[in-house]
Amino acid sequence: MDYISEVIEMVIRKNPSEYEFHQAVKEVLESLRPVVEANEEKFRREALLERLVEPDRQILFKVPWVDDKGNVQVNTGYRIQFNNAIGPYKGGLRLHPSVNKGIIKFLGFEQIFKNSLTGLPIGGGKGGSDFDPKGKSDREVLAFCKSFMTELCKYIGADTDVPAGDIGTGAREIGYLYGQYKKIKGTCEGVLTGKGLTYGGSLVRTEATGFGLVYLTEEMLKAHGHSIAGKTVAVSGAGNVAIYAAAKAMELGAKVVTVSDSNGWIYDKAGIDVKALKEIKEVRRERLTEYLKFRPEAEYHEGQGVWQVKCDIALPCATQNELLLEDAKALAENGCIAVAEGANMPTDLEATKYLQDKGILFAPGKAANAGGVATSALEMSQNSERLSWTFEEVDEKLKGIMKNIFFNMSDAAKEYGAEGNYVLGANIAGFLKVADAMMAQGI
Ligand code: GLU
Repeated sequence: MDYISEVIEMVIRKNPSEYEFHQAVKEVLESLRPVVEANEEKFRREALLERLVEPDRQILFKVPWVDDKGNVQVNTGYRIQFNNAIGPYKGGLRLHPSVNKGIIKFLGFEQIFKNSLTGLPIGGGKGGSDFDPKGKSDREVLAFCKSFMTELCKYIGADTDVPAGDIGTGAREIGYLYGQYKKIKGTCEGVLTGKGLTYGGSLVRTEATGFGLVYLTEEMLKAHGHSIAGKTVAVSGAGNVAIYAAAKAMELGAKVVTVSDSNGWIYDKAGIDVKALKEIKEVRRERLTEYLKFRPEAEYHEGQGVWQVKCDIALPCATQNELLLEDAKALAENGCIAVAEGANMPTDLEATKYLQDKGILFAPGKAANAGGVATSALEMSQNSERLSWTFEEVDEKLKGIMKNIFFNMSDAAKEYGAEGNYVLGANIAGFLKVADAMMAQGI
Protein backbone atom coordinates (compact mmCIF):
# COMPACT_ATOMS: atom_id res chain seq x y z
CA MET A 1 0.00 0.00 0.00
CA ASP A 2 1.29 3.51 -0.69
CA TYR A 3 2.25 5.85 2.14
CA ILE A 4 -0.81 8.13 1.83
CA SER A 5 -3.29 5.23 1.83
CA GLU A 6 -1.49 3.70 4.83
CA VAL A 7 -1.85 6.91 6.82
CA ILE A 8 -5.52 7.36 5.85
CA GLU A 9 -6.23 3.79 6.93
CA MET A 10 -4.43 4.37 10.22
CA VAL A 11 -6.50 7.51 10.88
CA ILE A 12 -9.74 5.60 10.27
CA ARG A 13 -8.60 2.73 12.52
CA LYS A 14 -7.38 4.94 15.35
CA ASN A 15 -10.30 7.38 15.30
CA PRO A 16 -13.43 5.27 14.83
CA SER A 17 -16.71 7.11 14.11
CA GLU A 18 -14.94 10.44 13.53
CA TYR A 19 -16.29 10.64 9.98
CA GLU A 20 -15.76 14.35 9.35
CA PHE A 21 -12.15 13.99 10.52
CA HIS A 22 -11.64 11.05 8.13
CA GLN A 23 -13.13 13.12 5.31
CA ALA A 24 -10.85 16.10 5.97
CA VAL A 25 -7.73 13.91 6.23
CA LYS A 26 -8.61 12.11 2.98
CA GLU A 27 -9.23 15.37 1.16
CA VAL A 28 -5.92 16.89 2.25
CA LEU A 29 -3.65 13.85 1.97
CA GLU A 30 -4.97 12.70 -1.41
CA SER A 31 -4.21 16.10 -2.88
CA LEU A 32 -0.66 16.07 -1.43
CA ARG A 33 0.18 13.04 -3.56
CA PRO A 34 2.59 14.83 -5.97
CA VAL A 35 4.60 16.30 -3.07
CA VAL A 36 4.59 13.13 -0.99
CA GLU A 37 5.63 10.96 -3.93
CA ALA A 38 8.57 13.25 -4.69
CA ASN A 39 9.76 13.12 -1.05
CA GLU A 40 8.49 9.75 0.12
CA GLU A 41 11.71 8.43 1.65
CA LYS A 42 12.36 11.55 3.69
CA PHE A 43 8.72 11.91 4.81
CA ARG A 44 8.54 8.25 5.84
CA ARG A 45 11.77 8.51 7.83
CA GLU A 46 10.43 11.60 9.58
CA ALA A 47 6.96 9.99 10.02
CA LEU A 48 5.81 13.36 8.77
CA LEU A 49 2.26 12.40 7.78
CA GLU A 50 1.72 10.34 10.95
CA ARG A 51 2.79 13.37 13.00
CA LEU A 52 0.61 15.70 10.95
CA VAL A 53 -2.63 13.75 11.51
CA GLU A 54 -2.10 13.31 15.26
CA PRO A 55 -3.11 16.36 17.33
CA ASP A 56 -0.48 17.66 19.74
CA ARG A 57 -3.05 17.67 22.54
CA GLN A 58 -6.76 16.79 22.85
CA ILE A 59 -8.43 18.46 25.80
CA LEU A 60 -11.92 17.32 26.83
CA PHE A 61 -13.62 18.72 29.88
CA LYS A 62 -16.87 18.97 31.80
CA VAL A 63 -18.88 22.19 31.63
CA PRO A 64 -21.52 22.30 34.38
CA TRP A 65 -23.78 25.38 34.61
CA VAL A 66 -27.10 26.35 36.17
CA ASP A 67 -30.11 27.10 33.93
CA ASP A 68 -32.87 29.64 34.62
CA LYS A 69 -34.99 27.04 36.42
CA GLY A 70 -32.19 26.39 38.89
CA ASN A 71 -31.30 23.00 37.37
CA VAL A 72 -27.71 21.97 36.71
CA GLN A 73 -26.87 21.25 33.06
CA VAL A 74 -23.72 19.50 31.89
CA ASN A 75 -22.03 19.96 28.51
CA THR A 76 -18.73 18.69 27.11
CA GLY A 77 -15.98 21.17 26.28
CA TYR A 78 -13.25 20.55 23.70
CA ARG A 79 -9.99 22.16 22.69
CA ILE A 80 -7.89 20.34 20.13
CA GLN A 81 -4.41 21.84 19.92
CA PHE A 82 -3.47 20.32 16.60
CA ASN A 83 -0.18 21.75 15.39
CA ASN A 84 1.95 24.70 16.52
CA ALA A 85 4.89 24.28 14.13
CA ILE A 86 4.49 27.81 12.72
CA GLY A 87 2.94 29.67 15.67
CA PRO A 88 0.56 29.50 18.64
CA TYR A 89 -2.53 27.33 18.17
CA LYS A 90 -5.24 29.48 16.62
CA GLY A 91 -8.84 28.72 15.76
CA GLY A 92 -12.41 29.26 16.83
CA LEU A 93 -14.77 27.82 19.40
CA ARG A 94 -17.92 26.23 17.96
CA LEU A 95 -21.03 26.13 20.15
CA HIS A 96 -23.59 23.85 18.52
CA PRO A 97 -25.46 20.69 19.55
CA SER A 98 -23.77 18.74 16.72
CA VAL A 99 -20.29 19.30 18.19
CA ASN A 100 -18.30 16.17 19.03
CA LYS A 101 -14.62 15.21 19.04
CA GLY A 102 -14.58 14.20 15.35
CA ILE A 103 -16.02 17.53 14.24
CA ILE A 104 -13.59 19.56 16.33
CA LYS A 105 -10.71 17.42 15.03
CA PHE A 106 -11.70 17.96 11.40
CA LEU A 107 -11.95 21.69 12.01
CA GLY A 108 -8.59 21.76 13.86
CA PHE A 109 -6.92 19.80 11.07
CA GLU A 110 -8.27 22.16 8.39
CA GLN A 111 -7.14 25.11 10.46
CA ILE A 112 -3.46 24.03 10.25
CA PHE A 113 -3.39 24.54 6.48
CA LYS A 114 -5.74 27.52 6.43
CA ASN A 115 -3.64 29.38 8.96
CA SER A 116 -0.46 28.50 7.11
CA LEU A 117 -1.95 29.86 3.87
CA THR A 118 -2.52 33.28 5.46
CA GLY A 119 1.27 33.72 5.54
CA LEU A 120 1.02 34.72 9.21
CA PRO A 121 2.64 32.89 12.15
CA ILE A 122 -0.35 30.97 13.51
CA GLY A 123 -0.71 27.24 14.20
CA GLY A 124 -3.88 25.17 14.03
CA GLY A 125 -6.41 24.49 16.78
CA LYS A 126 -10.15 24.39 17.36
CA GLY A 127 -12.54 23.98 20.24
CA GLY A 128 -16.12 24.26 21.32
CA SER A 129 -18.96 22.49 23.04
CA ASP A 130 -22.25 20.73 22.38
CA PHE A 131 -23.96 23.64 24.18
CA ASP A 132 -26.66 25.32 22.06
CA PRO A 133 -26.84 29.08 22.62
CA LYS A 134 -30.11 29.20 20.62
CA GLY A 135 -33.11 29.81 22.84
CA LYS A 136 -30.97 30.38 25.94
CA SER A 137 -31.30 33.52 28.03
CA ASP A 138 -28.40 35.94 28.35
CA ARG A 139 -27.85 34.78 31.90
CA GLU A 140 -27.66 31.13 30.80
CA VAL A 141 -25.13 31.94 28.07
CA LEU A 142 -23.06 33.86 30.65
CA ALA A 143 -23.23 30.93 33.09
CA PHE A 144 -22.09 28.52 30.39
CA CYS A 145 -19.26 30.79 29.19
CA LYS A 146 -17.94 31.29 32.74
CA SER A 147 -17.88 27.57 33.42
CA PHE A 148 -16.32 26.80 30.02
CA MET A 149 -13.53 29.36 30.51
CA THR A 150 -12.88 28.32 34.12
CA GLU A 151 -11.52 25.07 32.70
CA LEU A 152 -10.21 26.28 29.31
CA CYS A 153 -8.08 29.07 30.82
CA LYS A 154 -5.58 26.48 32.06
CA TYR A 155 -4.57 25.64 28.51
CA ILE A 156 -4.59 28.91 26.56
CA GLY A 157 -2.59 32.16 26.44
CA ALA A 158 -1.56 34.93 24.04
CA ASP A 159 1.59 33.01 23.02
CA THR A 160 0.27 29.46 23.38
CA ASP A 161 -3.29 29.14 22.11
CA VAL A 162 -5.66 31.93 21.04
CA PRO A 163 -9.32 30.90 20.52
CA ALA A 164 -11.92 32.99 18.68
CA GLY A 165 -15.49 32.78 17.42
CA ASP A 166 -17.12 30.24 15.13
CA ILE A 167 -20.71 28.99 14.71
CA GLY A 168 -22.60 29.93 17.91
CA THR A 169 -19.76 32.01 19.32
CA GLY A 170 -20.14 35.67 18.47
CA ALA A 171 -19.24 39.00 20.08
CA ARG A 172 -21.42 38.36 23.14
CA GLU A 173 -19.85 34.98 23.93
CA ILE A 174 -16.28 36.23 23.31
CA GLY A 175 -16.96 39.11 25.73
CA TYR A 176 -18.19 36.76 28.47
CA LEU A 177 -15.28 34.35 27.91
CA TYR A 178 -12.72 37.16 27.98
CA GLY A 179 -14.23 38.62 31.16
CA GLN A 180 -13.89 35.29 32.93
CA TYR A 181 -10.32 34.71 31.68
CA LYS A 182 -9.29 38.10 33.02
CA LYS A 183 -11.00 37.48 36.34
CA ILE A 184 -9.11 34.22 36.86
CA LYS A 185 -5.74 35.11 35.33
CA GLY A 186 -5.69 38.81 36.14
CA THR A 187 -4.05 39.79 32.86
CA CYS A 188 -5.29 41.81 29.89
CA GLU A 189 -3.45 39.76 27.28
CA GLY A 190 -4.73 39.12 23.75
CA VAL A 191 -5.84 35.59 24.58
CA LEU A 192 -8.99 35.68 22.45
CA THR A 193 -9.72 37.38 19.15
CA GLY A 194 -13.00 38.79 17.92
CA LYS A 195 -13.06 40.96 21.05
CA GLY A 196 -15.24 44.07 21.25
CA LEU A 197 -13.75 47.28 19.87
CA THR A 198 -13.69 48.90 23.32
CA TYR A 199 -11.42 46.22 24.83
CA GLY A 200 -8.80 45.22 22.28
CA GLY A 201 -10.80 44.04 19.29
CA SER A 202 -9.79 44.87 15.73
CA LEU A 203 -11.81 46.83 13.21
CA VAL A 204 -12.92 44.63 10.27
CA ARG A 205 -12.76 41.40 12.35
CA THR A 206 -16.57 41.11 12.32
CA GLU A 207 -16.73 41.52 8.54
CA ALA A 208 -13.45 39.73 7.74
CA THR A 209 -14.50 36.20 6.80
CA GLY A 210 -17.30 37.35 4.50
CA PHE A 211 -15.31 40.23 2.99
CA GLY A 212 -12.26 37.99 2.53
CA LEU A 213 -14.38 35.36 0.80
CA VAL A 214 -15.54 37.90 -1.76
CA TYR A 215 -12.03 39.37 -2.23
CA LEU A 216 -10.67 35.91 -2.99
CA THR A 217 -13.63 35.04 -5.24
CA GLU A 218 -13.09 38.25 -7.21
CA GLU A 219 -9.37 37.45 -7.59
CA MET A 220 -10.19 33.95 -8.87
CA LEU A 221 -12.82 35.27 -11.28
CA LYS A 222 -10.40 37.91 -12.54
CA ALA A 223 -7.76 35.27 -13.30
CA HIS A 224 -10.34 33.57 -15.55
CA GLY A 225 -11.58 36.69 -17.30
CA HIS A 226 -14.70 37.29 -15.16
CA SER A 227 -15.78 39.68 -12.42
CA ILE A 228 -18.37 39.51 -9.65
CA ALA A 229 -20.08 42.71 -10.85
CA GLY A 230 -23.41 41.96 -12.50
CA LYS A 231 -23.44 38.31 -11.37
CA THR A 232 -26.26 36.53 -9.54
CA VAL A 233 -24.98 34.97 -6.32
CA ALA A 234 -26.53 32.25 -4.14
CA VAL A 235 -25.43 32.38 -0.50
CA SER A 236 -26.31 29.79 2.15
CA GLY A 237 -26.29 30.53 5.87
CA ALA A 238 -27.40 33.69 7.64
CA GLY A 239 -24.65 34.02 10.22
CA ASN A 240 -21.63 36.25 10.39
CA VAL A 241 -19.94 34.85 7.25
CA ALA A 242 -23.08 34.90 5.07
CA ILE A 243 -24.12 38.40 6.12
CA TYR A 244 -20.80 40.07 5.29
CA ALA A 245 -20.22 38.01 2.15
CA ALA A 246 -23.62 39.17 0.90
CA ALA A 247 -22.87 42.77 1.89
CA LYS A 248 -19.51 42.85 0.07
CA ALA A 249 -20.80 41.02 -3.02
CA MET A 250 -23.65 43.56 -3.35
CA GLU A 251 -21.21 46.44 -2.78
CA LEU A 252 -19.16 45.13 -5.71
CA GLY A 253 -22.21 45.07 -7.97
CA ALA A 254 -23.47 41.49 -7.66
CA LYS A 255 -27.04 40.49 -6.84
CA VAL A 256 -27.30 38.06 -3.90
CA VAL A 257 -30.65 36.26 -4.12
CA THR A 258 -30.62 33.71 -1.28
CA VAL A 259 -29.74 33.17 2.40
CA SER A 260 -30.71 30.25 4.65
CA ASP A 261 -30.82 28.97 8.21
CA SER A 262 -31.32 25.50 9.67
CA ASN A 263 -35.11 25.64 9.09
CA GLY A 264 -35.46 27.16 5.63
CA TRP A 265 -34.28 29.64 3.06
CA ILE A 266 -35.14 32.97 1.50
CA TYR A 267 -35.29 33.72 -2.22
CA ASP A 268 -35.38 37.44 -2.89
CA LYS A 269 -35.07 37.98 -6.61
CA ALA A 270 -34.57 41.74 -6.23
CA GLY A 271 -31.49 41.10 -4.03
CA ILE A 272 -31.21 40.38 -0.30
CA ASP A 273 -31.81 43.35 1.98
CA VAL A 274 -28.65 43.06 4.09
CA LYS A 275 -29.78 45.72 6.56
CA ALA A 276 -32.92 43.72 7.33
CA LEU A 277 -30.89 40.51 7.60
CA LYS A 278 -28.51 42.14 10.11
CA GLU A 279 -31.42 43.43 12.18
CA ILE A 280 -33.03 39.95 12.31
CA LYS A 281 -29.90 37.91 12.96
CA GLU A 282 -27.50 40.20 14.82
CA VAL A 283 -29.84 42.41 16.83
CA ARG A 284 -33.04 40.44 17.42
CA ARG A 285 -31.53 36.91 17.09
CA GLU A 286 -34.68 35.73 15.30
CA ARG A 287 -35.60 33.17 12.65
CA LEU A 288 -35.27 33.91 8.94
CA THR A 289 -39.09 33.82 8.51
CA GLU A 290 -39.02 37.35 9.96
CA TYR A 291 -37.40 38.53 6.72
CA LEU A 292 -40.83 38.50 5.06
CA LYS A 293 -41.97 41.25 7.43
CA PHE A 294 -39.25 43.49 5.95
CA ARG A 295 -39.67 42.27 2.38
CA PRO A 296 -43.11 40.70 1.78
CA GLU A 297 -42.32 40.22 -1.93
CA ALA A 298 -39.55 37.69 -1.10
CA GLU A 299 -40.20 33.92 -0.85
CA TYR A 300 -39.56 31.72 2.19
CA HIS A 301 -39.15 27.96 1.68
CA GLU A 302 -38.89 25.30 4.36
CA GLY A 303 -35.93 22.89 4.28
CA GLN A 304 -32.94 23.13 1.96
CA GLY A 305 -32.97 24.36 -1.60
CA VAL A 306 -30.55 27.24 -2.09
CA TRP A 307 -28.45 25.31 -4.64
CA GLN A 308 -31.46 24.65 -6.88
CA VAL A 309 -31.70 28.38 -7.64
CA LYS A 310 -30.21 29.69 -10.88
CA CYS A 311 -26.99 31.54 -10.08
CA ASP A 312 -23.57 32.37 -11.55
CA ILE A 313 -21.70 32.07 -8.26
CA ALA A 314 -22.39 29.90 -5.21
CA LEU A 315 -21.05 30.83 -1.78
CA PRO A 316 -21.80 28.08 0.76
CA CYS A 317 -21.49 29.85 4.13
CA ALA A 318 -23.52 27.63 6.48
CA THR A 319 -21.76 24.48 7.69
CA GLN A 320 -19.95 21.25 6.73
CA ASN A 321 -21.41 18.92 4.08
CA GLU A 322 -24.24 21.21 3.00
CA LEU A 323 -23.47 21.04 -0.74
CA LEU A 324 -23.75 17.44 -1.98
CA LEU A 325 -23.59 15.75 -5.37
CA GLU A 326 -27.24 16.50 -6.26
CA ASP A 327 -26.67 20.17 -5.45
CA ALA A 328 -23.48 20.25 -7.54
CA LYS A 329 -25.44 18.78 -10.47
CA ALA A 330 -28.15 21.43 -10.13
CA LEU A 331 -25.55 24.21 -9.98
CA ALA A 332 -23.81 22.91 -13.11
CA GLU A 333 -27.11 22.54 -14.98
CA ASN A 334 -28.07 26.09 -14.08
CA GLY A 335 -24.84 27.51 -15.50
CA CYS A 336 -22.93 28.30 -12.30
CA ILE A 337 -19.33 29.32 -13.06
CA ALA A 338 -17.76 29.44 -9.58
CA VAL A 339 -18.13 28.02 -6.07
CA ALA A 340 -16.18 29.50 -3.15
CA GLU A 341 -16.53 28.04 0.32
CA GLY A 342 -17.28 30.48 3.15
CA ALA A 343 -17.89 27.65 5.63
CA ASN A 344 -15.44 24.89 6.55
CA MET A 345 -15.80 21.85 4.24
CA PRO A 346 -19.37 22.68 3.10
CA THR A 347 -18.89 20.71 -0.13
CA ASP A 348 -18.38 16.97 0.23
CA LEU A 349 -15.71 15.06 -1.71
CA GLU A 350 -18.05 13.78 -4.46
CA ALA A 351 -19.60 17.19 -5.09
CA THR A 352 -16.19 18.88 -5.19
CA LYS A 353 -14.94 16.41 -7.77
CA TYR A 354 -18.10 16.81 -9.86
CA LEU A 355 -17.80 20.61 -9.90
CA GLN A 356 -14.12 20.46 -10.81
CA ASP A 357 -14.76 17.91 -13.58
CA LYS A 358 -17.41 20.24 -15.01
CA GLY A 359 -14.83 23.02 -15.19
CA ILE A 360 -16.54 25.12 -12.50
CA LEU A 361 -14.02 27.25 -10.61
CA PHE A 362 -13.76 25.97 -7.04
CA ALA A 363 -12.09 27.77 -4.13
CA PRO A 364 -11.78 25.55 -1.04
CA GLY A 365 -12.71 26.92 2.38
CA LYS A 366 -9.23 26.79 3.80
CA ALA A 367 -8.27 29.46 1.27
CA ALA A 368 -11.57 31.23 0.68
CA ASN A 369 -12.62 31.70 4.31
CA ALA A 370 -9.14 32.39 5.71
CA GLY A 371 -9.86 36.13 5.98
CA GLY A 372 -11.42 35.65 9.42
CA VAL A 373 -8.48 33.98 11.05
CA ALA A 374 -6.05 36.24 9.16
CA THR A 375 -7.73 39.30 10.67
CA SER A 376 -7.61 37.54 14.05
CA ALA A 377 -3.84 37.38 13.60
CA LEU A 378 -3.89 41.12 12.82
CA GLU A 379 -5.82 41.61 16.06
CA MET A 380 -3.08 39.67 17.90
CA SER A 381 -0.46 41.99 16.37
CA GLN A 382 -2.37 45.09 17.45
CA ASN A 383 -2.76 43.69 20.97
CA SER A 384 0.99 43.02 21.18
CA GLU A 385 1.87 46.53 20.03
CA ARG A 386 -0.88 48.10 22.20
CA LEU A 387 -2.15 49.93 19.14
CA SER A 388 -5.25 49.85 17.00
CA TRP A 389 -5.22 50.30 13.28
CA THR A 390 -7.90 52.10 11.24
CA PHE A 391 -10.64 50.28 9.33
CA GLU A 392 -8.96 51.16 6.02
CA GLU A 393 -5.57 49.87 7.21
CA VAL A 394 -6.95 46.50 8.31
CA ASP A 395 -9.16 46.16 5.22
CA GLU A 396 -6.18 46.87 2.93
CA LYS A 397 -4.10 44.24 4.75
CA LEU A 398 -6.96 41.75 4.47
CA LYS A 399 -7.25 42.39 0.72
CA GLY A 400 -3.50 41.87 0.32
CA ILE A 401 -3.62 38.62 2.30
CA MET A 402 -6.51 37.21 0.23
CA LYS A 403 -4.73 38.16 -2.99
CA ASN A 404 -1.57 36.39 -1.78
CA ILE A 405 -3.54 33.31 -0.83
CA PHE A 406 -5.04 33.16 -4.31
CA PHE A 407 -1.66 33.53 -6.03
CA ASN A 408 0.05 31.04 -3.69
CA MET A 409 -2.56 28.35 -4.29
CA SER A 410 -2.68 29.10 -7.98
CA ASP A 411 1.14 28.91 -8.31
CA ALA A 412 1.34 25.69 -6.28
CA ALA A 413 -1.32 24.07 -8.50
CA LYS A 414 0.61 25.13 -11.61
CA GLU A 415 3.95 23.92 -10.21
CA TYR A 416 2.53 20.48 -9.48
CA GLY A 417 0.94 20.06 -12.90
CA ALA A 418 -2.68 20.80 -11.97
CA GLU A 419 -3.28 24.36 -13.14
CA GLY A 420 -6.61 25.71 -11.90
CA ASN A 421 -7.06 22.95 -9.30
CA TYR A 422 -7.23 25.20 -6.26
CA VAL A 423 -8.03 22.34 -3.87
CA LEU A 424 -4.69 20.78 -4.67
CA GLY A 425 -2.94 24.16 -4.76
CA ALA A 426 -4.28 25.30 -1.36
CA ASN A 427 -3.45 22.02 0.35
CA ILE A 428 0.06 21.88 -1.09
CA ALA A 429 0.88 25.53 -0.39
CA GLY A 430 -0.46 25.26 3.19
CA PHE A 431 1.30 21.96 3.81
CA LEU A 432 4.78 22.87 2.50
CA LYS A 433 5.32 25.62 5.07
CA VAL A 434 4.12 23.49 7.99
CA ALA A 435 6.13 20.46 6.82
CA ASP A 436 9.27 22.56 6.52
CA ALA A 437 8.79 24.04 10.00
CA MET A 438 8.11 20.60 11.52
CA MET A 439 11.21 19.07 10.00
CA ALA A 440 13.40 22.07 10.88
CA GLN A 441 12.42 21.83 14.55
CA GLY A 442 13.04 18.10 15.01
CA ILE A 443 10.73 15.89 17.01
N1 GLU B 1 -13.66 30.21 13.21
C1 GLU B 1 -12.97 30.90 12.18
C2 GLU B 1 -12.33 29.90 11.23
O1 GLU B 1 -12.91 28.86 10.98
C3 GLU B 1 -12.02 31.96 12.73
C4 GLU B 1 -10.96 31.45 13.65
C5 GLU B 1 -10.12 32.57 14.30
O2 GLU B 1 -10.34 33.74 14.05
O3 GLU B 1 -9.23 32.18 15.07
O4 GLU B 1 -11.31 30.11 10.65
